[in-house]
Amino acid sequence: MRARDLNRFLKDMGWRSSPVAQPGTPRSPVKEVIVGDDRFAALAHSASGCTLCRLSEKRQKVVFGEGDPHAAVMFIGEGPGAEEDRSGRPFVGQAGQLLERMLFAIGLRRDQVYITNIVKCRPPGNRDPKEDEVAPCAPYLDQQIELIAPSVLVALGKPASHRLTGTTKPISALRGRWASYKGVPLMPIFHPAYMLRTPSAKREAWEDLKKIKQRLDSTARG
Ligand code: SF4
Repeated sequence: MRARDLNRFLKDMGWRSSPVAQPGTPRSPVKEVIVGDDRFAALAHSASGCTLCRLSEKRQKVVFGEGDPHAAVMFIGEGPGAEEDRSGRPFVGQAGQLLERMLFAIGLRRDQVYITNIVKCRPPGNRDPKEDEVAPCAPYLDQQIELIAPSVLVALGKPASHRLTGTTKPISALRGRWASYKGVPLMPIFHPAYMLRTPSAKREAWEDLKKIKQRLDSTARG
């Protein structure tokens, strides 16, 4: 790892107290769902009225996901928070801004990837989603993965990493190690919200992001 790269990454990821310049990413919202084909639209429509679990009772909006439906990489978090529930968009607010800076660090814009969660409705109080909420929601995620057919999946944080790796190991043991989900290479990394609370974790995140970039570059060349 070159020190210059790390320093630039830490700077881009908000390592200083004043707001950093945004990395060229348009600030206007990406469309809620960029519909690539009818099946994707039908899936989003189905989720919009879903009442398969208790999370439907207090949600304001279903947060299906957004981005390029033909993306090479999907980022998958645990579930919508308060701002996401209000807006209907995944990863907005501070954690979303940090995710955008992470993407920028590996040469990607938000609208070039697909971002979603393992549950599409907000768990109350931002608690982790429970198994009887994750399980009924899994078919939506699995169909998103099938339709998008990404080269790489990235699990953001512990709940998504546990769900997709099928283990309950600490995120510190999972992050940075390639796994797979339904045959797609999967990289667990720290959740951006954790990195906001624990800035020192950004150094490990940088190592993980480099592995993701290397995999994407090799896939593009192949
Ligand atoms: S979290 Fe998933 S399964 Fe539960 S109501 Fe929302 S869309 Fe349906």
